[in-house]
Amino acid sequence: MADARRRVPRTDALLADPRLAAAVARLGREPVRSAVTAVQERVRSGELAPEEAADAAADALPPTAAALLPVLNATGVVVHTNLGRAPLSEAARAALADAAGCTDVEYDLATGRRARRGLGAVAALAEAVPGAEAVHAVNNNAAALVLAATALARGREIVLSRGEMVEIGDGFRLPDLLAATGARLREVGTTNRTHLADYRAAIGPRTGFLLKIHPSNFHTAGFVSSVPIAQLATLGVPVVHDIGSGLLRPHPVLPDEPDAATSLADGADLVTASADKLLGGPQAGLLLGRRETVERLRTHPLARALRVDKLTLAALEATLRGPDTPVEQALTATVAELAPRAEALAVRLRAVGLDAAAVASEARVGGGGAPEAVLDSAAVALPAALAAPLRTGRPAVVGRLHRDRLLLDLRTVPEAYDETLLAAVLAARPAPADA
Ligand SMILES: *Cc1c(COP(=O)(O)O)cnc(C)c1O
Repeated sequence: MADARRRVPRTDALLADPRLAAAVARLGREPVRSAVTAVQERVRSGELAPEEAADAAADALPPTAAALLPVLNATGVVVHTNLGRAPLSEAARAALADAAGCTDVEYDLATGRRARRGLGAVAALAEAVPGAEAVHAVNNNAAALVLAATALARGREIVLSRGEMVEIGDGFRLPDLLAATGARLREVGTTNRTHLADYRAAIGPRTGFLLKIHPSNFHTAGFVSSVPIAQLATLGVPVVHDIGSGLLRPHPVLPDEPDAATSLADGADLVTASADKLLGGPQAGLLLGRRETVERLRTHPLARALRVDKLTLAALEATLRGPDTPVEQALTATVAELAPRAEALAVRLRAVGLDAAAVASEARVGGGGAPEAVLDSAAVALPAALAAPLRTGRPAVVGRLHRDRLLLDLRTVPEAYDETLLAAVLAARPAPADA
């Protein structure tokens, strides 16, 4: 025992290990010291050999200081809310990293004076939607609605169809959010049908604005009707349109999804949208519309509490100015592109004895919108027992269970990650039984 005690590796010797030195830079001294103390204890108790101590300490340390882990989204759900909605483009990731230090977010380097905050992102958004006289960005679409309701309808009425009283998820309901601002909701029409006359009858001196909310996460069919923006715009009161998923122009793959340019052209005074759904950018709320309306929101005291940070501004501008986003690529990939990738992966997995097959699959747009849209896709089908080890692997891989098989849908996996996906499956497979 005394012998073993003397062989416990010294702290400074362990901290000199390059992996542990790198971990100090990455995580700080405290967690690395704790890991070192823990392995020294295990050596002291005879559980670990002294020469295994550095390996064990390095293995015990997390890859980053944040607990969030990278996930490969193989669910086939393009905008997956629980997986962080839109994955950012390389351009947006680079812009975000560049802005992470000190940056000229609110400073004019030419004059050395204070400048309007986030001018680059604002300009990029305005250029992307020429029909908007002015634009502004806040924390998310919910914040955009709160700002609009507070600035334009506090103590007044928001006229809203009963068919558009939407719960957006996790128990949050847009009518509750709007009512929390001190605006009064004036519900019109019925769940399935609302007519122009219903809005007209509700309009009066207390009207703040008419609100149209896109039912992005559900679909009604049968005896239904709702009033388009172009008709609401004839009633002589401001019209606010929450389009939800953030398409700036019509999208060929999603013809039923509303977009900002069309809504403004049809006469909406203000459009609100999320930036991290179909636009494919960082979490933000976009406000586009008439100059006077947007300026009222931008200069309202509450705007300061909802403002976006420099990282968001950087990522938003790069998303708007950069090449196609991963969301756009996932929406527009063809089966002719996806199927050969699934086949190639299945062939390589079968070659090592795995029960793998390339299959046709149905991908979805997801929480971002278009609940009815099915995107034909291609997947690798594997034994369902691989789901858990893949989820807990590094990187984590999340697929979709379908008829007792685990499907890894390639529509949501960028092609550059095929080798990573393959390696993850190989690492997740059970150790071969000894012959
Ligand atoms: C997603 C969504 C919201 C909420 O947007 P966040 O950016 O998540 O705050 C509001 N309205 C509609 C119609 C939506 O689809």
